[in-house]
Amino acid sequence: MTAFVSISNLVRLFDVSKPWLNRVIERRPKAFLTAVSEVDFEIEERTTYALVGESGSGKSTIGRMIVGLLNPSGGQVLIEGVNLASETDPAKVDAVRSDIQMIFQDPYASLNPRWRVRDIIAEPVAARGGKTEGLAERLLEQVGLHPSDAGKFPHEFSGGQRQRICIARALASEPRLIVCDEPTSALDVSVQAQVLNLMSDLKDEFGLTYLLITHDLTVVRHMADRIGVLYLGRLVEEADPKSLFDDPKHPYTQMLLDAAPKMDGFGREVPPPQGEIPDPIAPPPGCAFHPRCSIATDICRQERPRMRDIRGARVACHLAE
Ligand code: ADP
Ligand code: MG
Repeated sequence: MTAFVSISNLVRLFDVSKPWLNRVIERRPKAFLTAVSEVDFEIEERTTYALVGESGSGKSTIGRMIVGLLNPSGGQVLIEGVNLASETDPAKVDAVRSDIQMIFQDPYASLNPRWRVRDIIAEPVAARGGKTEGLAERLLEQVGLHPSDAGKFPHEFSGGQRQRICIARALASEPRLIVCDEPTSALDVSVQAQVLNLMSDLKDEFGLTYLLITHDLTVVRHMADRIGVLYLGRLVEEADPKSLFDDPKHPYTQMLLDAAPKMDGFGREVPPPQGEIPDPIAPPPGCAFHPRCSIATDICRQERPRMRDIRGARVACHLAE
């Protein structure tokens, strides 16, 4: 049996070369940035998988490849056993696509300011020729807004309310999988919890599967069934929340956790974990984390650590024991 979402050896490069003429004059080869490298994980149906990592670690790129907005450079994404990037049967592609929705960080940018909420919410269904009578009103109630809000425009709502509208729109096409890319990062801390609670309730009610993308570990602790920690495009640790928070095995996970308690408090700026993230165009040899790692030895500088099973977690570290 395969998982609902199954990702294997996923790779994504971006061409970041200078224009052709500059390259010729400066005698430079093409340059590629590795945004995602050899990522493997599975998401079981009706569970929440959280992808966590600092900005630039490749979270959004993975999310966009899963929903089919971006093609992998290598490896594959299977959703319900279908590979969207290579499937040739349009009926299968359509069936899988209609099972997936995405929610983004900035709820204002993803709502058309000139449309009424009713039309925004019903649009994915109308585009498929489905019935939209009363749909927006029903969904607005389900996300904690008032049915009469359907006649308003996006600017008449607060940030948290707008994200509720985005959620209502995502639900309109009755998806089975929702990829949520930093869904609460733009919201006030007090509002964040409300939106996350709503997402939890909806998951149970509609039997949804979530991929929750966030840079904030505190967000995932109570919501995720499984957490994957990304560093420079690679998965460095994967575990269930209890194991990850009580017994983090990768030094990078430990560093993130050390920074985490300061993040939840009162929404104040917190100094990021120490050290710079290396350049993804020229990543360090061996373990990409070794320049920031306090326990790194020679092997870490030379050999890339493979994913290993350690005490119920998957960890890519030579020294995790
Ligand atoms: P995250 O969501 O974790 O912040 P992203 O997936 O957005 O990370 O980006 C991963 C890396 O890929 C970053 O170094 C980013 O600059 C780079 N990247 C993302 N999209 C593009 C693009 N379209 N062209 C070039 N580089 C990109
Ligand atoms: Mg992102």
